[in-house]
Amino acid sequence: MGNEHIRVERIKTGKTKPSPDQLQFGKHFTDHMFIMDYDASQGWNDPRIVPYEPLTLDPAAIIFHYGQTVFEGLKAYLGGNGDIRLFRPDKNMVRMNHSSDRLCMPQIDESFVLMALKKLIKIDQEWIPNAEGTSLYIRPFMIATEANLSVSASHNYRFMIILSPVGSYYKEGINPVRILVENEYIRAVAGGTGTAKTAGNYAASLKAQETAEENDYAQVLWLDGVEKRYVEEVGSMNVFFKIAGEIVTPALNDSILEGVTRHSVLQLLHHWDLPVTERRISMDEIKTAYEAGTLEEAFGTGTAAVISPIGELNWDGYKMDINGGETGPIARRLYDTITGIQLGTLEDPFEWIVQVD
Ligand SMILES: *Cc1c(COP(=O)(O)O)cnc(C)c1O
Repeated sequence: MGNEHIRVERIKTGKTKPSPDQLQFGKHFTDHMFIMDYDASQGWNDPRIVPYEPLTLDPAAIIFHYGQTVFEGLKAYLGGNGDIRLFRPDKNMVRMNHSSDRLCMPQIDESFVLMALKKLIKIDQEWIPNAEGTSLYIRPFMIATEANLSVSASHNYRFMIILSPVGSYYKEGINPVRILVENEYIRAVAGGTGTAKTAGNYAASLKAQETAEENDYAQVLWLDGVEKRYVEEVGSMNVFFKIAGEIVTPALNDSILEGVTRHSVLQLLHHWDLPVTERRISMDEIKTAYEAGTLEEAFGTGTAAVISPIGELNWDGYKMDINGGETGPIARRLYDTITGIQLGTLEDPFEWIVQVD
């Protein structure tokens, strides 16, 4: 559907925009949204940008009962010249198709959807906040809309993009968080849906997250689902450790979600000629390193926070203080570099930025 015309229906009166200090994550939405529909005979059809409003769906729609849905998350930043900058959106489009394939959902035309996204952002560009650390969060997603209570892949789908101005993830500069190693619940196992961004993974994670928060921990560190020994991810971020000078992140397996930020961090570390390895890493190894005084840094990576330093790890009551609870030099350098590239204050040597013009 490469050149298909996108119909635009504008709102009559715009909503009031929140002031930058009121912004939280995912609470405010812009005036418009992008929609297209799919059915088996026509494929994707009727792409349109329309006023943001509630949907009407059949109560028997498959999304409500069997969770056939996928999503993405990326951001647009306002540069110093008023330029609108997307960070590696092509990667999100590819990942969405990977997720959709796992969930038996139809593929999208990546370049068409990127074009539609740019068009939507231009229409709502006044919603992009420009205070320091703020951005426009972009949520593309797809749902199964066929009314059918039998368990089978839907024949009908809706793809949508909504936009949400978001505040700075860090109120007072980047700050380390406390992390609880999760010993009871599991995020994903090989053969499951862990490599797909699909709702069920997040529904299944809520119980562990709630328990962590009750105990004053920000997130959980997920272990592998078979032996509960090997590190997988932290919350909905990928995770890195620096042990005796080596920077390590769990190698991609069949249960880890491949983050765009993870990929970017690896590229930067290689570019800086720092020793970095993708391999399995066990909690025993981390504890041994901690006891030897060689657990130098730990941090999570993801679109929302970019880099989230870990100041404490609690494994079954055994507390490990990392870098004195302070942000380490690698985490700091990665954060400053990636956010600098996103905002255009630093050069973009890898051509990560896609401008909306
Ligand atoms: C989205 C996500 C990440 C991070 O991916 P980014 O593309 O870097 O934002 C990591 N783990 C999980 C489970 C995720 O959902």
